[in-house]
Amino acid sequence: MNKAVFLDRDGVLNHTVFKMGKPRAPYTLEEFSLIPGVYEGLQLLKDNNYLLIVVTNQPDVARGWVTKDAVEMINQHLKESLAVDEVKVCFHTEFDQCFCRKPNPGMLLEAAREWNIELPESYILGDRYSDIEAGKNAGCRTILIGEGDGPETIQPDYQKVSLLEAAYFIHSL
Ligand SMILES: [Mg+2]
Ligand SMILES: [Zn+2]
Repeated sequence: MNKAVFLDRDGVLNHTVFKMGKPRAPYTLEEFSLIPGVYEGLQLLKDNNYLLIVVTNQPDVARGWVTKDAVEMINQHLKESLAVDEVKVCFHTEFDQCFCRKPNPGMLLEAAREWNIELPESYILGDRYSDIEAGKNAGCRTILIGEGDGPETIQPDYQKVSLLEAAYFIHSL
């Protein structure tokens, strides 16, 4: 069996983009910037034999605000520049009732089947409570990165300021 660290993308690997006071995903490589320490943190997790699987909701595609090609270009860039094994994307909105959109665990469970991942030995790192809920729904350990979005709706197992700090923490266990 393998173990994995599931990674939310926006707000964990790369900065979110603020437009009119609201955070959203970067739509172009020009808008895309990695958070400091992410490269080193992922290398450390790789050295500890974790598969690195990005699980990202990208509902702005269904909303018509960005193309699927543009999202895939950024994901391709992620795979080429970081030690990431796979990127799984939910392109739906909350109205589609899919099983993949976090807080549903679909992307994590699919990856677990494909990569033979032992979920209780794995982690999810996310900056929103929906990431934490997805991790709990899949049965893995949860680490909230940053302060969370709004009132706490679900208690993470751990809370760290950045992916790098979370990586050092996992390494130290
Ligand atoms: Mg996020
Ligand atoms: Zn979906």
